[in-house]
Amino acid sequence: MLSKKEKPLIAFTVEKCPSCKKETKRKFKEGDCLFAPGMQCDSCKTLTSIAKIFGQAIE
Ligand SMILES: [Zn+2]
Repeated sequence: MLSKKEKPLIAFTVEKCPSCKKETKRKFKEGDCLFAPGMQCDSCKTLTSIAKIFGQAIE
């Protein structure tokens, strides 16, 4: 019988700036959903949108 130990997952959100294409990875926040508007871009102040949400296993 398989007894695979489950690794805890941490969710991350990637926000992408449509203007300068800068991607910012941060920890997932409650309420984040794909293509929702994110924060203002650090470098050009354009409103980013959420490009990716993924879970990463921590060892
Ligand atoms: Zn930008």
